[in-house]
Amino acid sequence: MSPADGPGPVPPGNSGGRPRIDLHTHSTASDGTLTPADLVRAAREAGLDVLALTDHDTTAGWEPAAAARPPGLTLVRGAELSCRWYGTEPSIPLHLLGYLFDPHAPELVAELARVRAAREVRGERIVAMLRADGIDVDWAEIRTAAGGTVGRPHIAQALIRAGLVATTDEAFTPNWLGERYRLPKDDIDVFRAVRLLRQAGGVPVMAHPRATRRGRIVPDSLIVELAAAGLAGLEAEHEDHSPAERDAVRALAGELGLLVTGSSDFHGTHKTVRLGAHTTGTEAYERIVAAASGVPVLTDQG
Ligand code: AMP
Ligand code: ZN
Ligand code: FE
Ligand code: FE
Repeated sequence: MSPADGPGPVPPGNSGGRPRIDLHTHSTASDGTLTPADLVRAAREAGLDVLALTDHDTTAGWEPAAAARPPGLTLVRGAELSCRWYGTEPSIPLHLLGYLFDPHAPELVAELARVRAAREVRGERIVAMLRADGIDVDWAEIRTAAGGTVGRPHIAQALIRAGLVATTDEAFTPNWLGERYRLPKDDIDVFRAVRLLRQAGGVPVMAHPRATRRGRIVPDSLIVELAAAGLAGLEAEHEDHSPAERDAVRALAGELGLLVTGSSDFHGTHKTVRLGAHTTGTEAYERIVAAASGVPVLTDQG
């Protein structure tokens, strides 16, 4: 009998039925707009059973998120690492979601600190380019407003405050941060990132691997190599993937034996997507948990 055939064992979902699992979200520790505490509460209110906090290049939100998690919400601690594939010219940036890694692993900690510092340098340079064109934005103000890991969404807010663009989306168009005022940052070599995450007991999953609307994407051949190097999965269900792109990701994951995730990539009001807009299946989630040895998932505090 298949699980759909009727009253089988009690499903693992806290809210009855299949658990709702969102494995990619951002808080004010990077470029989201909800604090880590508000994010875990909002996740439960949105009907989620499992939430991963995956701020860019930082674990700063882990403690406040853990302390605030409401009854019934399981927290998966993670991060989204700013990576780059240097095997082509020019190099291609990509994002790796790392789950349940040891947040004290020295090499990984050092690399995250380095890339956060590189984001500061790059942010300040983007602001200098804007100012050189007579656009009145202020780095110190942007830096203070950001609080945690700084990124282009924070510069976008300054452009909105200055009345130059109406929305974050507009700030990411080619005339603004999407191209004209876009600078590369000094990211982590993607093979090194996979290795450091695995060494720290973490589980690496490539975020939005086919998101052509964000820019250039890496070839399948790289994903094949990364799978051999320890990549565990691919994010298929993501708002930046077209239906055809989602299918392609699923097919490639199937060929390579990689797990497949889906997630909102929630950023609060910096994006329009809602918590739980895309979700991950129980089996993929369980594979991630089983493969991890850095830190445990945090279940109900009660
Ligand atoms: P950065 O990390 O500084 O390169 O900025 C990229 C971040 O901005 C990523 O987290 C994206 O999710 C976000 N982002 C990219 N494009 C957009 C967009 N059109 N609207 C809002 N956020 C975006
Ligand atoms: Zn972001
Ligand atoms: Fe991303
Ligand atoms: Fe993200």
